[in-house]
Amino acid sequence: MSIHRPRKRFGQNFLHDQHVLDRIIAAADFCEDDRILEVGPGPGALTERLLATGLPVLAVEIDRDLGTALQTRDAKNLEVKIGDVLRLDWSELLPEPPYKLIANLPYNISSQVLFKALDHRRAFRRLVLMFQKEVGDRLLAKEGTRTYGILSVLIQTWFKIEKVVKVPPGAFHPPPKVDSVVICLEPLSEPRTVLHDEELYRRLVKGAFAQRRKTLRNSLRGSGWSVEQIDRAFSDVAIDPGRRGETLTIEEFGALANVLSSHLGD
Ligand code: SAM
Repeated sequence: MSIHRPRKRFGQNFLHDQHVLDRIIAAADFCEDDRILEVGPGPGALTERLLATGLPVLAVEIDRDLGTALQTRDAKNLEVKIGDVLRLDWSELLPEPPYKLIANLPYNISSQVLFKALDHRRAFRRLVLMFQKEVGDRLLAKEGTRTYGILSVLIQTWFKIEKVVKVPPGAFHPPPKVDSVVICLEPLSEPRTVLHDEELYRRLVKGAFAQRRKTLRNSLRGSGWSVEQIDRAFSDVAIDPGRRGETLTIEEFGALANVLSSHLGD
C-alpha cells in the first residue's frame, strides 16, 4: 500500500506498540468458537494479531483507502466491510453471535460504539477496547466522584468492567494529545440491579445527570415526570430528592426506576 497519511477526521492514531498489542490479545482471552468484530482496523496492526488466532474476523472501516487495502490482503478468515459502523444495522452485522469486539476505537465515536454494544450486549462475549483515559475513568467511576455519570451507571449496570493497561501517546502514530487506556468489558447475565422497565431506567439515569449541579428533583423535571410523581417515588424508596444524581448508587437508581414504572398505571 502507498504511504497513508493519517486522517484526523476519522480519529486515526495508529497503534504500533507491540506490548500494548500483546496485552489486548491476552485480555481478549480467545476460545476456539469465538468470532471477532474489529471496528476501525486502519492499516491493520491489531488486525494482523487477530487474524493470527485463526478465528473469523469481521473488520469495519470507514476509510475507503484503508478498507480497500485490507480487502486485498490474502487471509481466508478476514471479511472487511467499508462503512460507518454507527450507521450499520448491528443485528445484520452480527448474524452469528457470540462475538468478541476488539478495537482501538477512534475517540470521537467511542461512547456511541459502547451504547451500540449495550443495545446488542447479548451478541457479545467480551469487549476489549481502547479509550481516551478520561472516558476510561468515567467507565470505572464509583458514585460520589466527579467522573461518575451516565456512562458509568449505564455501562456498569450491564457489564463487568476492568482496566487492562494504560497507554501513553507514544504508542500511536501520530501521538494523540491525551493518555489512553485499554478496558475489558464483559456483559453480565443479568443487570446489576433488578429492573422492571429498562427504557425507563435509562431515561431516569439520563435525566438525573442532565443538569449535574441541580438536585435530582430539579434535574428530573425536564425528563417528563411531574413534581408529584417525582416526590412520591422518592418518598416510596426513602431517597432524598435534594441529593444530586452523582451520589446515587446503581441499586438506588434501580429502585427509583422501579417505583416510577409501577406508578405509571396510576
Ligand atoms: N486499529 C488501528 C490501529 O490500532 O492502529 C486503527 C485505529 S484508529 C484510532 C481508528 C480507526 O477507526 C481508523 O482506521 C478510522 O479510519 C476508523 N474509523 C473512524 N470512524 C469510524 C467509523 N465511524 N466506522 C468505522 N471505522 C471508523
